[in-house]
Amino acid sequence: MANALVTGITGQDGSYLAEFLLAKGYTVYGVVRRASTENFERIEHIKHEINFLQSDLLDQLSLIHAVEESRPTEVYNLAAQSFVPTSWVQPVLTGEFTGLGVTKILEAIRLVDKKIRFYQASSSEMFGKAAEVPQTEKTPFYPRSPYGAAKVYGHWMTVNYRESFGIHAASGILFNHESPRRGKEFVSRKITDAVARIKTGKLDKLRLGNLDARRDWGYAGDYVRAMWLMLQQDEALDYVIATGRQHTVRELARIAFARVGLDYERYVEVDPKFFRPAEVDSLLGDCTLAHRNLGWQPQVSFEELIHMMVDADLERHQNMG
Ligand code: NDP
Ligand code: GDP
Repeated sequence: MANALVTGITGQDGSYLAEFLLAKGYTVYGVVRRASTENFERIEHIKHEINFLQSDLLDQLSLIHAVEESRPTEVYNLAAQSFVPTSWVQPVLTGEFTGLGVTKILEAIRLVDKKIRFYQASSSEMFGKAAEVPQTEKTPFYPRSPYGAAKVYGHWMTVNYRESFGIHAASGILFNHESPRRGKEFVSRKITDAVARIKTGKLDKLRLGNLDARRDWGYAGDYVRAMWLMLQQDEALDYVIATGRQHTVRELARIAFARVGLDYERYVEVDPKFFRPAEVDSLLGDCTLAHRNLGWQPQVSFEELIHMMVDADLERHQNMG
């Protein structure tokens, strides 16, 4: 059966993709970087089924070794410094991981075996100050953060290796996608975790930034299926993956608090600390191409997603006592 190599396997998407690939019968190899304590929380339940390879996006040779050792037919590059606010604090590091890291892994593929299929985790943040609504594969990029700019570079390198070397390289332009495994600093999980803490008496107030920001939020479990579908096509293309529906942060908070019978207005406070140097006010994706070519469409609605996340956080906090 086929081998797949996944970078970022300890992250939200890596954990869902690993589950998905294992269920399809793949032998899954996961790139992990060395840490002083193990960081396998999201893949604890499947870690005995994964072959781990120590490597880092900063280290070209380690990536070549990872590709040589795993001999994959498919490589999924999910690793990145993925949090927008951190990209202003560490813009150079973000460029190294999120941007140049893509070139390093593409080089590893070019050197070891050009027949390997490659998936790059591109982002709707590349649209930034969006030139049109909704955004499609043809919408020009206007990134508004070092993270967005680094993703634009990674995206174009993916396109370039496809056009220059004939590598089957696809870039998935994924809009925000969440789950109970989302990092707690992202707004969806920050809210659902706070709802659970408020409900269990561990927190009084939730401080947020721009409540009017609008995003097209989907479920991570649906989105990893699209990644895999992109690599099963004869022709590698770039695809927007989105729900086509948009909500404000305020609506997200309202639905999350309402799930446990609370009114968000009593608990949410706006704190300027969480405003960004430059905001991406509104993102809305059009995934017509993915629907047509891949037969992909999201299965979990926004309300179901937020309820799923609140329920999971509530259960966790109740079990913690
Ligand atoms: P996470 O932040 O949850 O996971 C990031 C992963 O990258 C972690 O496994 C992390 O490892 C790993 N990583 C970071 N730096 C390095 C490095 N130098 N070398 C090796 N591994 C590294 O992100 P998500 O799962 O949410 O997202 C997956 C990808 O999709 C990312 O590239 C993200 O930018 C992109 N994306 C995500 C969207 C979303 O809404 N979730 C939307 C669009 C794009 P460790 O555990 O050691 O920190
Ligand atoms: P992003 O779209 O990748 O930056 O995902 P985030 O979940 O970090 O942010 C989504 C939107 O929520 C952005 O427009 C933020 O400005 C907005 N937002 C409002 N309050 C907060 C907050 O407290 N934390 C975060 N992370 N985002 C917030």
